[in-house]
Amino acid sequence: MSNVKFLSGERFPLEMHKVRMVQKINLLPVEERRRSMQEAGFNTFLLRNRDVFLDMLTDSGVNAMSEKQYAAMMQADDSYAGSETFYRLEAVLQDIFGAKYFLPAHQGRACEHIISKVLVKPGSVALMNYHFTTTKAHITLMGGSIEEIISDEGLNIQSTAPFKGDVDIDKLNEAIKRLGKDKIAFMRIEAGTNLVGGQPVSMSNMREVSRICREKGIPLVYDASLLSDNLYFIKTREKEYRDVDIQSITREMASLVDIVYFSARKLGSARGGGILVSDEGLFLKMREWIPIYEGFLTYGGMSVREMEALAVGLRETMDMDVISQTPIFVEALCNELIAEGAPVLTPPGGLGCHLDATEFCSHIPQTQYRAGALAAAAFIAGGVRGMERGTLSEQRNDDGSERLADMELLRLAMPKRVVTLSQIKYIADRIVWLYKNRHLIGGLEFVEEPKMLRFFFGRLKPIGNWPDLLVEQFRKDFGESL
Ligand SMILES: *Cc1c(COP(=O)(O)O)cnc(C)c1O
Repeated sequence: MSNVKFLSGERFPLEMHKVRMVQKINLLPVEERRRSMQEAGFNTFLLRNRDVFLDMLTDSGVNAMSEKQYAAMMQADDSYAGSETFYRLEAVLQDIFGAKYFLPAHQGRACEHIISKVLVKPGSVALMNYHFTTTKAHITLMGGSIEEIISDEGLNIQSTAPFKGDVDIDKLNEAIKRLGKDKIAFMRIEAGTNLVGGQPVSMSNMREVSRICREKGIPLVYDASLLSDNLYFIKTREKEYRDVDIQSITREMASLVDIVYFSARKLGSARGGGILVSDEGLFLKMREWIPIYEGFLTYGGMSVREMEALAVGLRETMDMDVISQTPIFVEALCNELIAEGAPVLTPPGGLGCHLDATEFCSHIPQTQYRAGALAAAAFIAGGVRGMERGTLSEQRNDDGSERLADMELLRLAMPKRVVTLSQIKYIADRIVWLYKNRHLIGGLEFVEEPKMLRFFFGRLKPIGNWPDLLVEQFRKDFGESL
């Protein structure tokens, strides 16, 4: 395969960087892992990092930065207004995306807030390939709703389709016909579709969506937070782009949409976010809100040091040696698990390895949060912290009933250039052990349940004493070790 490095003969990833700074991590004994899970209310978000061995919670703000990014931080210009740092970042973004205007914001959800504030009216509908938690929350807060029009294959857990994040064009046409243009706030395409397993969107699909939206006058918004993995997949899976460089692919994608926004906690391996737009009217409407919610227009809630790191990180994102690292590591972990029969979402995408909790924990009812239970069990089994992406991550319906998720996943995110191959082997070993003992895992129920984004800080408890049984079995199988 062009441009991606593997050890000869095998699809065994090769790191295209060397490690020059490290952080010590702790591996607590299984009894202490069980205790800290209890203290965290069986919610992996509430664990203290000192108790975590391998932190696979997210790819957000935890990616390894390059020496050039750290060096750039030293030249940051602290001025409140008119900072040179802003102009440097703006120039990089304008060049990479070919857009006219850049509005800075403190992170991805802040961009969603500003975009929703301008484009969403009460009763309007935002169409999208698939929702992201914070996106949906901001649209709903503005009185709008969302409709997902992802390809059917996108919700098929085991698949060989190369672009499961693609929009279903028939569903798009049908929705426009049914709702009418005026009721549609915007169409949103999410790169590297997060909640369905980091699955990419093809350029050919984007072209088609863009053509339809332009013809009907519907604004097209592109969430580029997970762009780097998506670029890798376009280059390696979409034939006509095999010989096109990453920069040209990025420009072409951006040319198809009206607004690009991103979380720089993911894209560019820094922290922050921003909105790119070329239409002056839209720019002026969104600009009004930046000083109110984010900060003055030349920093938008970001630290100038992070902005410098971002400018360099974005340039580095245009390099296949850099952006191939996450997908090939995800693939390596998925392949280890598949070889032992553990159920994972396929094909391996970007972002992380996704365990299929529906199959893994088929004995646990969906209303007892099987993916959340699996997340707690994985931490007890190996000190590995993943994130529930299933019913727990949904919000209840207005009548208080559970909104059951389309998929019940445990995501083991792959922070960029952070995890080593022996750690991948360790994770696979513990997950395979858990799979063999899956009958021991039980359900969870809420003790404290917040109304909004409950997965972040809700507290739960196990139904029955299954965590103790799991620890007992672990000791039997592993003896005194670890
Ligand atoms: C993380 C993420 C966001 C939100 O970004 P934050 O910086 O965490 O606010 C939005 N969209 C997608 C696809 C994401 O992965």
